[in-house]
Amino acid sequence: MVNHYQILIIGGGNAGLSVASQLLIKRSNLNIGIIDPSEKHYYQPAWTLVGAGIFDINKTVRNEKDVIPKNTTWIKEAVNEFMPNENKVRCSSGKEFTYNYLIVCPGIQLDWDKIKGLKDTLGKNNVSSNYSFQHAPYTWEMIENFKGGTAVFTNPTTPIKCGGAPHKIMYLAVDYWRKQGILDKCDVHYLSGATVIFGVKEYAATLTEVVKRGNIKVHFGVNVNEIDAANKTIFYEEKNQAGEVLRKSMKFDLCHAVPPQSAPDFIKNSILKDEANPFGYVEIDKYTMQHTRFPNVFALGDCTNAPCSKTGAAIRKQAPVVVTNLLAIMDNKKVTAQYDGYSACPIPTQYGKLMLAEFDYTNTPKMTFPINQAKPNWAMWILKTKVLPWLYWNKILKGTA
Ligand SMILES: Cc1cc2nc3c(=O)[nH]c(=O)nc-3n(C[C@H](O)[C@H](O)[C@H](O)COP(=O)(O)OP(=O)(O)OC[C@H]3O[C@@H](n4cnc5c(N)ncnc54)[C@H](O)[C@@H]3O)c2cc1C
Repeated sequence: MVNHYQILIIGGGNAGLSVASQLLIKRSNLNIGIIDPSEKHYYQPAWTLVGAGIFDINKTVRNEKDVIPKNTTWIKEAVNEFMPNENKVRCSSGKEFTYNYLIVCPGIQLDWDKIKGLKDTLGKNNVSSNYSFQHAPYTWEMIENFKGGTAVFTNPTTPIKCGGAPHKIMYLAVDYWRKQGILDKCDVHYLSGATVIFGVKEYAATLTEVVKRGNIKVHFGVNVNEIDAANKTIFYEEKNQAGEVLRKSMKFDLCHAVPPQSAPDFIKNSILKDEANPFGYVEIDKYTMQHTRFPNVFALGDCTNAPCSKTGAAIRKQAPVVVTNLLAIMDNKKVTAQYDGYSACPIPTQYGKLMLAEFDYTNTPKMTFPINQAKPNWAMWILKTKVLPWLYWNKILKGTA
């Protein structure tokens, strides 16, 4: 087996395949290997729509072999060690691969075990999570069958992929219950580790209205750490005004939970990680996407310490920067392309209406369309539910969008 590649990509998800395709469009003779153990490739942004009962889960998954760009080599292995001083990675099978240039993008790790009891009750007892391919359909089953009572939606204290997903599903659930005429029987709580509903004030203002209209009780700065499904009770920590941490609990009838997240363990345990980052992400220059200590290493997607919102939308802007800068160093030129922290969060505020929140590192709105995107509208709903899924499979993974 060939064990040396000019460019080795770790992770064949949204980031890995976008960047491989874009590299080959620029230079078709590149020798690229992509290491990824997964047989399947997922379009995760549609899991919110699956949980809301308007998207077929089977349309969010394809075989990895069918989406791997032609003229690359898929290596079905899992990396577990980086040796950047020797330009080498080792896989859990013991196999080693060497490279001239490395691109690291194995995504983010879902730390289900950090909420005691969650993993065992997922998919039953009216507890679900759209963060799982397996369980997103159960979210809809719960929402559709809910007849009233206490509904709890959680958001962890850690950074996560798609910061909007924990509350997107809440707005859709509330809208569904309103349309069923049962909202007055629903006591809806949002238990969030964040301190605000959204980090960009222009978009936060819209969501504050949506929360008010749905009579949603918001609890900020709380740390959900246990679910006792048998007793339908959720436990969380909350600071009082004196700064003391109090352990509180709430009975629930329905719970949508989002796990804490961090860098995959093999990144956390590696020399590539940012020592100062509590979640162990890969240390890169947040503008050039180049590793700060190993110049032939780049990283993008959910695994980096770039302080942007972790989304596929961010990857669309990061991938061309990685491609331009990687080709520059191959040509012994300076890296000049810069990523400005752009990210986007499409937030459905009700069925048929969506607010497309776009912003950069400075949390300044960066609206693409000539309308006020802070105002939810139907066109953005169509973009999210119809256009983006098509674009993902047909253009983004192929490097043409
Ligand atoms: C519920 C939900 C809703 C979302 N909504 C949106 C949205 O509306 N808009 C948006 O832009 N984004 C959204 N996202 C976020 C988006 O899906 C991610 O940001 C994006 O998939 C990240 O791409 P990535 O390539 O970094 O990671 P991934 O796409 O997760 O891919 C990582 C790849 O690395 C592989 N890998 C893992 N470990 C190893 C290893 N040891 N060795 C080699 N390979 C490995 C995995 O098998 C996987 O194929 C959402 C996510 C979720 C879960």
